[in-house]
Amino acid sequence: MAAKIISGTEIAAQIREELKKEVAEMKEKHGVVPGLVTILVGQNPASVSYVTGKQKTAHELGFYSIQDNQPADILEADLLGLVDKYNKDPKIHGILVQLPLPKGINEKKVLNAIDPDKDVDCFHPVNVGRLVIGGEEARFKPCTPAGIQELIVRSGVETSGAEVVVVGRSNIVGKPIALIMMQKGKGANSTVTVVHTGSKNMDQHCKSADILIVAAGVPGLVKPEWIKPGACVIDVGVNRVGEKLSEKTGKMVPILKGDVDFDAAKEIAGAITPVPGGVGPMTITMLMKNTVLSAKMSIK
Ligand code: NAP
Repeated sequence: MAAKIISGTEIAAQIREELKKEVAEMKEKHGVVPGLVTILVGQNPASVSYVTGKQKTAHELGFYSIQDNQPADILEADLLGLVDKYNKDPKIHGILVQLPLPKGINEKKVLNAIDPDKDVDCFHPVNVGRLVIGGEEARFKPCTPAGIQELIVRSGVETSGAEVVVVGRSNIVGKPIALIMMQKGKGANSTVTVVHTGSKNMDQHCKSADILIVAAGVPGLVKPEWIKPGACVIDVGVNRVGEKLSEKTGKMVPILKGDVDFDAAKEIAGAITPVPGGVGPMTITMLMKNTVLSAKMSIK
């Protein structure tokens, strides 16, 4: 039987509706409006498109939002000063510095300058540490892994006691999703294995997974025969494998493929995310969720 297709587009829309209500309630009861600033240095086209998407969503949800554009030749000290200004601004609950930053600016130094309580991307070592400790210590979850967990939970997949295999160990996807799924608590409590380029018998590890999360950035890495029948497969990979003419716009657009051979895998898996339309739409939504959480935490 063909797998259930987990639509990130639909689940993200559902979460955004929930957030819209929460924002309206917070405003009415406490007079607090979630505030998000996105700082863009330079005009890298991909970065411009990412921050535009974030600002558009923030606006739709009723946030107070600022798009702060800075020149590519801004001095590191001035950028640090700007971060400090937003750290002190009580109307701002989330600060996002769009990466990559131009050469000559120390990214780590800038990200570490963000007040951990406003670090809605969850890149600050303090928040990473809180995630490791788990329980009530954990505040924000990094956006892509948080989106992955929502997709799994909202699709009705049992996580407690499930064998979760994560392919990839990056700091933005592999490691944090492994940490999230191993926590004691709802929507987690799984037995987690992480595989990477140093792992042996990748196929056997993957085949043992009730929930297989693939974040390698290698198109078609996971073969259909590596998938346990009925497993839930979350394909995080987004790989440009060519270009095609868009019927809608008449322009050339990239052809995107995941890390899993979707057409064959959907005949074996119990549930699977498509690429595009799976994990992708969740990331911005979880950034908004973190900003709402930060605003809530600011209410005394
Ligand atoms: P990354 O930093 O390049 O990390 C990739 C990880 O996969 C590394 O840990 C690497 O292992 C492992 N890996 C690579 N090739 C492998 C192989 N042949 N066998 C086993 N492991 C392998 O990438 P990332 O930032 O985590 O992103 C992964 C993918 O997710 C990319 O396609 C990216 O575009 C996509 N992504 C999507 C979203 C979204 O919102 N949809 C967000 C973030 C990322 P080593 O550590 O041993 O090198």
